[in-house]
Amino acid sequence: MKPARAKTPRKLLVKKGSQTNLKDPVGVYCRVRPLSFSDQECCIEVINNTTVQLHTPEGYRLNRSGDYKETQYSFKQVFGTHTTQKELFDVVASPLVDDLIHGKNGLLFTYGVTGSGKTHTMIGSPGEGGLLPRCLNMIFNSIGSFQAKRYVFKSNDRNSMDIQCEVDALLERQKREAAPNPKTPSSKRQVDPEFADMINIQEFCKAEEVDEDSVYGAFVSYFEIYNNYVYDLLEEAPFDPIKPKLPQSKMLREDKNHNVYVAGCTEVEVKSTEEAFEVFWRGQKRRRIANTHLNRESSRSHSVFNIKLAQAPLDADGDNVLQEKEQITISQLSLVDLAGSERTNRTKAEGNRLREAGNINQSLMTLRTCIEVLRENQMYGTNKMVPYRDSKLTHLFKNYFDGEGKVRMIVCVNPKAEDYEESLQVMRFAEVTQEVEVARPVEKVICGLTPGRRYRNQARGGPTGDEPLVTEVVLQSFPPLPSCEILDVNDEQTLPRLIEALENRYHLRQIMIEEFNKQSNTFKALLQEFDNAILNKENYTQGKLNEKEKLISGQKLEIERLEKKNKTLEYKIEILEKTTTIYEEDKRNLQQELETQNQKLQRQFSDKRRLEARLQGMVTETSMKWQKECERRVAATQLEMQNKLWVKDEKLKQLKAIVTEPKAEKPDRPSRERDREKAAQRSVSPAPMPLSSNYLAQISNGQQLMSQPQLHRRSNSCSSISVASCVSEWEQKIPPYSTPVTVTSIARRRQQEPGQSKTCVVSDRRRGMCWTEGREVVPASRSEVQVEEDQCCRGDVFKTRGGGQSVQFTDIETLKQELPNGSRKRRSATMVPAQPDGTESEWTDVETRCSVAVEMRAGSQLGPGYQHHAQPKRKKP
Ligand code: ADP
Ligand code: MG
Repeated sequence: MKPARAKTPRKLLVKKGSQTNLKDPVGVYCRVRPLSFSDQECCIEVINNTTVQLHTPEGYRLNRSGDYKETQYSFKQVFGTHTTQKELFDVVASPLVDDLIHGKNGLLFTYGVTGSGKTHTMIGSPGEGGLLPRCLNMIFNSIGSFQAKRYVFKSNDRNSMDIQCEVDALLERQKREAAPNPKTPSSKRQVDPEFADMINIQEFCKAEEVDEDSVYGAFVSYFEIYNNYVYDLLEEAPFDPIKPKLPQSKMLREDKNHNVYVAGCTEVEVKSTEEAFEVFWRGQKRRRIANTHLNRESSRSHSVFNIKLAQAPLDADGDNVLQEKEQITISQLSLVDLAGSERTNRTKAEGNRLREAGNINQSLMTLRTCIEVLRENQMYGTNKMVPYRDSKLTHLFKNYFDGEGKVRMIVCVNPKAEDYEESLQVMRFAEVTQEVEVARPVEKVICGLTPGRRYRNQARGGPTGDEPLVTEVVLQSFPPLPSCEILDVNDEQTLPRLIEALENRYHLRQIMIEEFNKQSNTFKALLQEFDNAILNKENYTQGKLNEKEKLISGQKLEIERLEKKNKTLEYKIEILEKTTTIYEEDKRNLQQELETQNQKLQRQFSDKRRLEARLQGMVTETSMKWQKECERRVAATQLEMQNKLWVKDEKLKQLKAIVTEPKAEKPDRPSRERDREKAAQRSVSPAPMPLSSNYLAQISNGQQLMSQPQLHRRSNSCSSISVASCVSEWEQKIPPYSTPVTVTSIARRRQQEPGQSKTCVVSDRRRGMCWTEGREVVPASRSEVQVEEDQCCRGDVFKTRGGGQSVQFTDIETLKQELPNGSRKRRSATMVPAQPDGTESEWTDVETRCSVAVEMRAGSQLGPGYQHHAQPKRKKP
């Protein structure tokens, strides 16, 4: 019979990623091997079952701050120096075997520097079987009794499995065994003592829930990747010790489902742990021989041991394997012992070896790069191309990282100080690898046949059990056979009766068989119905489950998003809190400043108040002072008026005397000379009291004494003869100004209003009058009064106008004539008549003249103050 071929069914049944988006991170474990010698310096310490700490050993470079650097690295689990192979297997490898038996792929590799215990972990040491023999042990413990007959499953060169019936398988077996060089391994052979203790595993380990309605076939392949070439280690080639043939490297190919495989790689079907390990050991030996002959360094090659498990369901009767290739499930567990991860210089490789080592390192570098790109793509959502094809190693395991199975890595480290730097690199790589996530492999799809077929079949076809009983029951239900004892030769009845009874029985049996078949068919239909119903239910449940899983993953994403948002918000809150603190501090500062300013203002306010009070006091004091001064001045003025009165009285007396004098005494004498003489003889009235400058200032402001012009008013009759005659003479000689001028004498105005400065000149010198702009100015000084007085005395030439003391002059020159020579000479230069436009005119001479006249009249009768005042003028003749 032609074998039926089966493709890898997994891909056909379930599309990639169609189930869920669930992912698992690459499981990274760490195993710390014990130190070779107890006195070696140790640089790695196991902190707890997930963390190791690296200490910088003595003599290594310190970090920038000069301290010894201590870095911690976390793993899924850390196995210390006392960890047994069994403990490690239970945690790391047994779940992968479990997956394998349930139709899922797995990749387990050991990574680390040479001598860190990779091979010890993966394969084991004498007496300590590693993960590989333990995996084999668990597989065969689990599938042992369900294994298909040899050659029922047949691996082909397209990375898939063919299936054939047991008879065909038997024929093939017989054919191979008959061959001169039998290639069929025997599971009954004696175990090689070389590795016997490595596979002698005491602990029984078995996968749970193995599908008993399936048959299994296990296949192993073993190859190494050296210098980026793949060498099949199980290839049977005649070995010529004289001229050894160079091993042929294998190509990598992709099957229909894009799974990468080593094309033409030998796959050996194995039926027991011993057989499988023997095959492995053969490959291992071959590897060693090749390394020796080709001068290769074994630590520089990667070795890959693949365990492929084919699984097909039994048919509905549970008798034979279902001959449907689509129903075959293939799963694979790859156990990889990687080359030492140390740098090239450490191996002291030279020439060819160095180049090879470089290539090997290159493949590890590519592995690192792939892991990093994968991580980046997953973390940042980028879609960078992962450079799997850059090396055979990564290309081969591309599918695992793309979501075809679980990936686990055991990082092996030797804690000795010499390995510190290399171990550091290993730890860093491990750290990155842990962040890579691999899609969870899909669940195996149920074949659709009733479970429990195998046991039902066994119950049906087993050597002991129900069948005789059933026969008995059936026989009992038949009518009893007639007696078949023939006593007579001529008995012709017994045999025909027996024949008839037997025929009846036969007939009955036929009916029963028909009935049974009918019932059996009905029951089968019923069962099928139930099966279908269950299947539908299961499918429905599966669908629901998928939906729920989708929902959960969606919610997980939402939770992640919210957590991120929460973090952002927390960060914002933190910033806002900081800002608030800053503002509050600012506010406090500003309030303090405000308080300070307020206090300052209060101080200033109280200072101002004090100053006001002081100024108030000063004003009061000053006004009191001025009041007193005014009173004093009033008194002085009164005194002056009294003086004037007295002068008038004197004058009157003199006039009386003149009047009473006999008129004929000197009748022809010119009146001027006479007057002069008389005047010289006359007693002078006492001069008025000198006035203070303050007082004068007040007068100049036009207050206080404005109401007293009457005091200075003269009658025309009151005049000195000589002055009067002079004036009349002057009046006659010079024609008067067309515009009458108001003459005002302003004495000593020390304080003057700004606006008046143009109209009126203030001088310390005595001035008689000045021109004003058509207004009368009240004479404010004593000298003015004196002038008027004098003028009046001299012949009534000066006229008084209105209530003021203004006197009109028409020609000053005449008046000057009357003044003593020296005086005229000295002052004539300054005699400028005031102009109608307000320019000043100095009439000091008139004043001087008048005062001199008064002085002359007053004579020795003047008081001391007057004497003093008149003194400078006395010099004038
Ligand atoms: P690698 O494969 O990493 O180069 P090996 O596995 O060959 O290193 O280990 C080197 C040596 O160290 C071997 O002799 C091995 O027996 C020993 N060894 C490694 N790991 C352990 C361990 N965990 N316990 C005991 N011995 C170990
Ligand atoms: Mg090794």
